[in-house]
Amino acid sequence: MGSRTRQALPVAELIEVLDREHPDAKLALDFASPLQLLVALILAAQSTDAKINEITPALFAEFPDATTFAGADLARLEQAVHASGFFRQKARALKTCCTALVERHGGEVPSDMAALLALPGVGRKTANILRGNAWGIPGIGVDTHVARLSQRLGLTVQTDPDKIELDLVRQIPEGRQIRFCHLLQFHGRRVCHARKPDCPRCAIADLCPYPDKTPPAPAAEKPRRSRWL
Ligand code: SF4
Repeated sequence: MGSRTRQALPVAELIEVLDREHPDAKLALDFASPLQLLVALILAAQSTDAKINEITPALFAEFPDATTFAGADLARLEQAVHASGFFRQKARALKTCCTALVERHGGEVPSDMAALLALPGVGRKTANILRGNAWGIPGIGVDTHVARLSQRLGLTVQTDPDKIELDLVRQIPEGRQIRFCHLLQFHGRRVCHARKPDCPRCAIADLCPYPDKTPPAPAAEKPRRSRWL
């Protein structure tokens, strides 16, 4: 089994098992338009998706389009995104990005990769997640879960997200790339935790070559009978 790292992982089987395990897997951020998803992704850095979902309904009601974000009073915007953490940087990032959207794209979010990457604060992870979830365009958005699980599963030895993305797009069929990301995100949250993966109850343990799997918990010792009884 030690040679598993050198063998190609049966990706189709991996996705099939994870699909059965996490049929509810989907992007955890709530959104109703590409702009809302872009804003949620900018806010999600160093925060949790659940926290962002708490903030965004009121935020999107007050700032319904790129023009209102671009023209927002910065102090008010900071207040509106305060709970997401790093609120000063994030408020500034939203305003700057939406200003560019208004100036370059009439306030619409482009689906073109190069146009997205040219927007301030938008990197490949955000662009791929946005394209995949807003328009269904294949791609791999390498977030913390996708990176960690891909490494443990032996799909990559890289640590740089752009290089991990390259390794993954070579191995995951285009039509499964978006689903693959959702599945890894859910499996990462529920089972393959960063600090202590729950390998004993992992559905893909047989396929996983990770050498430092968490061993099963030792069975509880049976109470010994007293020899005086
Ligand atoms: S066996 Fe362990 S390390 Fe491998 S995917 Fe499952 S939880 Fe993660």
